[in-house]
Amino acid sequence: MTSRTPTSDLDAAAVVARLRTTFATRRTAATDWRRAQLTALRALLTENRDDLLAALAADLGKGPIEADRTEIGFTVNEIDHTLDHLEAWLAPRTAELPEWLLPATAHTVREPLGVVLVIAPWNYPIQLSLVPLIGALAAGNCVVVKPSELAPATSAAMARLLPRYLDDEAVAVVEGAVPETTALLDQRFDHIFYTGNGTVGRIVMTAAARHLTPLTLELGGKSPAVVDTGVDLATAARRLVTGRFMNAGQTCVAPDYVLAIGDSARDIEPHLVEALHELYGADPAGAPEYGRIVNDRHFARLTKLLDSGRTVIGGDHERASRYLAPTVLADVGADAPVMQEEIFGPILPIVPVPDLDAAISFINDRDKPLALYAFTDSDETKQRLRTETSSGALGFGMPVVHLTVPDLPFGGIGESGMGRYHGEYSLDTFSHTKSVLDKPLG
Ligand code: NAD
Repeated sequence: MTSRTPTSDLDAAAVVARLRTTFATRRTAATDWRRAQLTALRALLTENRDDLLAALAADLGKGPIEADRTEIGFTVNEIDHTLDHLEAWLAPRTAELPEWLLPATAHTVREPLGVVLVIAPWNYPIQLSLVPLIGALAAGNCVVVKPSELAPATSAAMARLLPRYLDDEAVAVVEGAVPETTALLDQRFDHIFYTGNGTVGRIVMTAAARHLTPLTLELGGKSPAVVDTGVDLATAARRLVTGRFMNAGQTCVAPDYVLAIGDSARDIEPHLVEALHELYGADPAGAPEYGRIVNDRHFARLTKLLDSGRTVIGGDHERASRYLAPTVLADVGADAPVMQEEIFGPILPIVPVPDLDAAISFINDRDKPLALYAFTDSDETKQRLRTETSSGALGFGMPVVHLTVPDLPFGGIGESGMGRYHGEYSLDTFSHTKSVLDKPLG
């Protein structure tokens, strides 16, 4: 079993060298080894559920229902899906050959990459460390996991538990912050999988370039939610607030702002208020499922955004506990502070636009979002959004949930990232698809 890697005076070269030695034995390539790791990871999650929930509560004030759903249960589902399909995904795929080459056969086979690095953020610290790990293990790699220092209790839990359950000569957990991550990034990896903000994404990509290491960048940005006229606003509001305010708004695919067409801008306001009351009651500060802001820096950043529009509900906050009430702002203009960067907190601005053309221009004038959502009954509107905008994902009628479908690739485009994972797409990310051609000599 692996030992916990020291965080101070980290010898990153030694960590990687140890995993390379393991990879060279080829044991991680065996399907049985991969299955055993995934099964052990599943056991880690179910047997230590209470400890993990406590860590998430300590780091982010996450309530148990939400944490079960979005972290532990989510990750268990990904393991089950992977175990169900692993052999099929690993089976060689026959390629059709041009006639002039016959007789011959050809196929593709997925081979492991080697030693890969997973750098995770703090907002879903279990899911975003372990779901990439699932893909990396399923593909037969050795893995260094670097959890976020901003979720210290969860990071410590993973550093304690992963070596106990997994092959510790193949999986290492390195805790730490910038110095440790920098030391890791000096090493040569066979793939780097980074989730977090675009500024650090650029640092990671620069480091990867030095070794010509392929990488996945799972980044963020402002994901708009278009609300059309004439739709069921009560349902739209319920789904919007669920997506926006889970994890106190600290969700990469949360609807960042509402682009409300025509009358829907005013009409949706009472429905958002009602939906928030339904979800968290009259006093969200006392609601067990309402989270807290991760740290003082983010708390200070968010409270500065509260003057960006007319407050429909919320706005109250308490510094000591880093509580910021679920807040809806109306009549927000494109130049408002809240519209300049990803909010990543419990604030939902409503930006009025006159029509669909204006909504599409608004979206296309900005960075390509990780997700675009729309609430509309019009097939024509759906078709126009599908063809005239670009985003990591497009969700009609319900935000966020596309990422729970393991058969759908999850990832961004442009400023929201590059590459994709979940389900078989994770296997693609963490494998090399090798072409094999066999032409008989006779
Ligand atoms: P973070 O601060 O935890 O940083 C992410 C990782 O980068 C951490 O492990 C951290 O140690 C490391 N890091 C930080 N500074 C570094 C540096 N200078 N050099 C090397 N490594 C460094 O997380 P964050 O960036 O605040 O996360 C929030 C962002 O992540 C948001 O923009 C959000 O949208 C995005 N996000 C994206 C996804 C996705 O799946 N696409 C998921 C969650 C979060």
